[in-house]
Amino acid sequence: MKYVNRKAMIIRESGRSSDFITPSFGYGCLYKCSYCYMRRHVKKGLTIAKNTEEIIDAIARHLWLLKWPKEPNQTHSKYYTYDFSCNEDYVLHAKYHNWEYLFDYFKNDPKAMGTAATKYVNKNLLSYNANRKVRIRFSIMPQKLSDILEPGTSKIVDRIKAVNDFYEAGYDVHLNYSPIIMYEDFQKDYNDLFRLVDSIVDKSIKNKVKAECIFLTHNKEMHKYNVINDVNGEKYLWRPELQEPKTSEYGCLNIRYNRHNKKQYIKDFKQLHNTVVPWQKIRYIF
Ligand code: SF4
Repeated sequence: MKYVNRKAMIIRESGRSSDFITPSFGYGCLYKCSYCYMRRHVKKGLTIAKNTEEIIDAIARHLWLLKWPKEPNQTHSKYYTYDFSCNEDYVLHAKYHNWEYLFDYFKNDPKAMGTAATKYVNKNLLSYNANRKVRIRFSIMPQKLSDILEPGTSKIVDRIKAVNDFYEAGYDVHLNYSPIIMYEDFQKDYNDLFRLVDSIVDKSIKNKVKAECIFLTHNKEMHKYNVINDVNGEKYLWRPELQEPKTSEYGCLNIRYNRHNKKQYIKDFKQLHNTVVPWQKIRYIF
């Protein structure tokens, strides 16, 4: 891990997980999920921005130009949402970051809210009351797949249990079903996963714990990298008979489930989800 001065102060639009994506507080990841694009960009370790204040200033300047009140949307009905964990797992790396300083910014700003997806249950964050101005999105998938594709990450059951603890501490908490991967036992394993969610999430907060659902995106270069480096689980990720190329909004040539199949997958996923966890609102699915 290396501290650097982050120079690029670019704030990108998102429109899905959040309204905007902040400049990178961290770049790289101490986890090595088989499907993650960051493994190709940063093969080892990560860099952490030491100029947190400058990044926060950039967010504040960006926010200042936005009209107020905000037009309500699926990311939040009132606040502009900023994802501060895009090229890393910020919650995992929190001890390297000035995280309380950043959370204080979101907590005290009348217009902004921070949000981060994570695969790590970081109990150190539980001593902080974010007044619902920081949203943690726990990423989940069937444990069987997680064991293969997300080595070393928190157990899925612990991530689901953490929903209650983080909500109680004062965070806003959502679930991030991502990446959704098609495989033989998909129906059965997701049925079990939804049942686990239903049985663990406290009934008093069920209407607050929304979902985002993102099907797998893969990439030819990453496929080659995974094969050469003998990365676990490539047979789940590389399914050319089900996939087609698609250029991302940032110009990368990716591979996604082909659009005809995907329509059906989305339908099946929603049907199963809505049968077992009808209380959970899906914010978006794609
Ligand atoms: S936790 Fe997130 S950023 Fe880290 S390797 Fe996994 S997918 Fe990538």
